Amino acid sequence: MSERLFEELLDETKRLFVEKYGVAPQVLVAAPGRVNLIGEHTDYNGGFVFPMAIERCTIIAASPSAASSATIFSNNMGATADFPLDPDVAPADKVEWTSYVQGAISMSVKKGAKAPGFNAVINSNVPLGGGLSSSASLEVAVATLMEELGGVSFGKVEKALMCQQVEHVYAKMACGIMDQFISALGEKDHAMLLDCRSQESKMIPLTDPSVSVLIANSNVKHALTGSEYPERRASCEEAARRLGVKLLRDVDLETLLASKDKLIDEENGDRLFKRAFHAVGEDVRTLKMADALVAGDWETVGAQMYASHYSLRDDYEVSCPEIDVLVEIARNIGMEGGVIGSRITGGGFGGCTVSLVKTDKVDEITRILKEEYKNQVGKEATIFSTRPAQGARVL
Ligand code: ADP
Ligand code: MG
Repeated sequence: MSERLFEELLDETKRLFVEKYGVAPQVLVAAPGRVNLIGEHTDYNGGFVFPMAIERCTIIAASPSAASSATIFSNNMGATADFPLDPDVAPADKVEWTSYVQGAISMSVKKGAKAPGFNAVINSNVPLGGGLSSSASLEVAVATLMEELGGVSFGKVEKALMCQQVEHVYAKMACGIMDQFISALGEKDHAMLLDCRSQESKMIPLTDPSVSVLIANSNVKHALTGSEYPERRASCEEAARRLGVKLLRDVDLETLLASKDKLIDEENGDRLFKRAFHAVGEDVRTLKMADALVAGDWETVGAQMYASHYSLRDDYEVSCPEIDVLVEIARNIGMEGGVIGSRITGGGFGGCTVSLVKTDKVDEITRILKEEYKNQVGKEATIFSTRPAQGARVL
């Protein structure tokens, strides 16, 4: 199924290249999107995240040209733009698709990629703006293309860090390191346990083909005043300050519980405590889930996912009714019906849930989720299954 999706995307990309430029492409690269299995809102607290690359990716087809710049068509945007191979192109005021591409080109050139002018086609089957990091897959794909055309190798970690800078500087998004790391370093049949403080990563095998990952998009995104995310960050920083540590990562659960009164006051009530309790507890759950996966202890794996969800719902307060419905439907199907665990994934207030499910039950679970979600919420959920995929590569 997913092999087929990839082949279709690849064939389409090659065909578009020939249509546009009249020759076959000489270079093909791909970089995947991602889903986070557990470890939510831990990155800026220096904690652990546990993403995996999905079987959806951005493919770029390219060939050197006689020009001194790059001409690139994005099939997803239905637009072509010209990109100078110049390390000093300033970020545009208004962020557009070209911002990601120009950022990755300029930073790659700055890092020593001596690419000639080239023609290219970008084509992606990661949903754009769907919380599965189409942006990181685009940045990492462009950087991988620049390595190939420019005769250099940045190293995977360096490439990921560079692409994070692209997102910060050119897309003006102050993201953590997760998305670019997993897109660059992902491995087939593995999830990545990433320590956001040390930036060390460890690949955790998820080789059992009888288990799949089901991603369900609620197709809601609650418009917020933009105050929610800054509040969570500020609360965590304030909690860390009161506990006398730099990051909440540096506090264990016992210490946190023993210091509860430092985080409760008239002005904030127990808000700071609840935020910290999520952040600290989520690290414990993430490590526990990684261990349980290795041991094939599915009960424990599922328990961590549900506990993570309820913590995000009740203590961190970043879920929403539609997402809660998806998780409860999955939970009601239960282990007997093939659902190991389920939770919200991503920043919150809408977006997707991630569930671990039995591969032979994927169709049935998908059917129930769609039907029940429609009944209860009145909306369509978009659902697909995947296995952990390979990170960025030259094809
Ligand atoms: P997400 O990363 O969750 O998909 P973002 O808002 O961070 O959502 O990134 C989406 C943006 O990235 C798009 O609006 C577009 O500007 C850019 N982008 C991603 N993939 C492509 C693509 N294949 N072609 C052109 N632009 C893309
Ligand atoms: Mg993004």
